[in-house]
Amino acid sequence: MPIFDNKITAWSAQADELIDTAVRNLDRIVDKNQWKVIEAFQKHKVSDYHFAGSTGYAYNDRGREVLEEVYAEVFGAEAALVRPHFASGTHTIATALFGVLRPGDELLYITGRPYDTLHKVIGKSGDGKGSLADFGITYAEAALDEQGQVDWPEVEHLLNDRTRVIGIQRSRGYDWRSSFTIADIEAMVQRIRSYNKDIVIFVDNCYGEFTETLEPTQVGVDLMAGSLIKNPGGGIAETGGYICGKRAYVELASYRLTAPGIGGEVGAMLGTTRGIYQGLYMAPTIVGQALKGSIYAAAMFELAGFDSKPGWGEQRTDLIQAVSFQQEQQLIAFVQGIQRASAVDSHVVPEPWDMPGYEHPVIMAAGTFIQGGSLELSADAPIREPYIGYMQGGLTYSHVKLGVLMALQTMLERNLL
Ligand SMILES: *Cc1c(COP(=O)(O)O)cnc(C)c1O
Repeated sequence: MPIFDNKITAWSAQADELIDTAVRNLDRIVDKNQWKVIEAFQKHKVSDYHFAGSTGYAYNDRGREVLEEVYAEVFGAEAALVRPHFASGTHTIATALFGVLRPGDELLYITGRPYDTLHKVIGKSGDGKGSLADFGITYAEAALDEQGQVDWPEVEHLLNDRTRVIGIQRSRGYDWRSSFTIADIEAMVQRIRSYNKDIVIFVDNCYGEFTETLEPTQVGVDLMAGSLIKNPGGGIAETGGYICGKRAYVELASYRLTAPGIGGEVGAMLGTTRGIYQGLYMAPTIVGQALKGSIYAAAMFELAGFDSKPGWGEQRTDLIQAVSFQQEQQLIAFVQGIQRASAVDSHVVPEPWDMPGYEHPVIMAAGTFIQGGSLELSADAPIREPYIGYMQGGLTYSHVKLGVLMALQTMLERNLL
């Protein structure tokens, strides 16, 4: 074991005691989700021959077809599209939105500003080329109210007869707000349905999968999307995304992924199928490890005198743990400390840099097996006030604990604690 200062090991002992019940309660969610996944595998009679790769057009790839049935089953959806051909979460979400929106329609986000990379998809920033706006699809957004809740009077004001899709982002992303639980999303669905029965309710489910025992499509959401290098890939899927929901909408999305009339009938899986199945099988447990790590991190940083969001005792519905530091140097030490504890690339020291598309320098720790895989322990922070660091993931609880300990140790060594 690395040597940590006595002050830090004392906090760790205190944190372990503090969070004991919260961590054990998580096991109930993990057990339920683990069975939910195994039961879906059983129902669809998954066999080892389903894991074989396919080539060319890959018509009648049974492995791929059954994989999509299993995903639909787990998420309580009519249909799913689960493909390595989705290059990222943003690509997956864009495919879903382009699939169901038509020129003249409007997309209305009711959970405030969406995730950064979606701004260019919408056409809110950048030159707009190829964006929804470029295709004559307009966009409106209701900012969250002061309590961080949906501002319903504003939503009612913005709704109009062109509103075709309502967007909800489950996770806080990199904002200092709360994430929306499944119960919150269910209440949103009921309210939206009371205004309009036909609007397509879309959820960006990134970072949310398996943190609770139900998913948005099990409480009335029509369409949702997520990334396979986040939660549902279980740290094993090497690339890809999923879209699931009502069959008609998933089919429209499949026409955007491939071509109209072809849709999900083609798409060579090459050698990715087994990893995507096994990742889904692992996901409930790995997400549980990451969540335990987040609870421990929240408790440790609180003991060290920083604000954590969510707090260690709060309900969780995604993987992201935000910590508010007082100084820039603490933020940098935090990210560099996380990197120091990684198995991959621990010998490199992250530095703030001007990342394309960001207004401030950003520093990131990402010692991961899958490039950018954020179900693995990773941390990022824009260098700006208020100095908020974000961490997420961790394939093992022990690794997250060591990362947090190393982050605090690094701060201590630099006289920042
Ligand atoms: C990660 C994420 C995305 C985008 O996924 P990328 O793989 O980074 O393109 C979109 N929305 C949310 C909430 C996310 O967490």
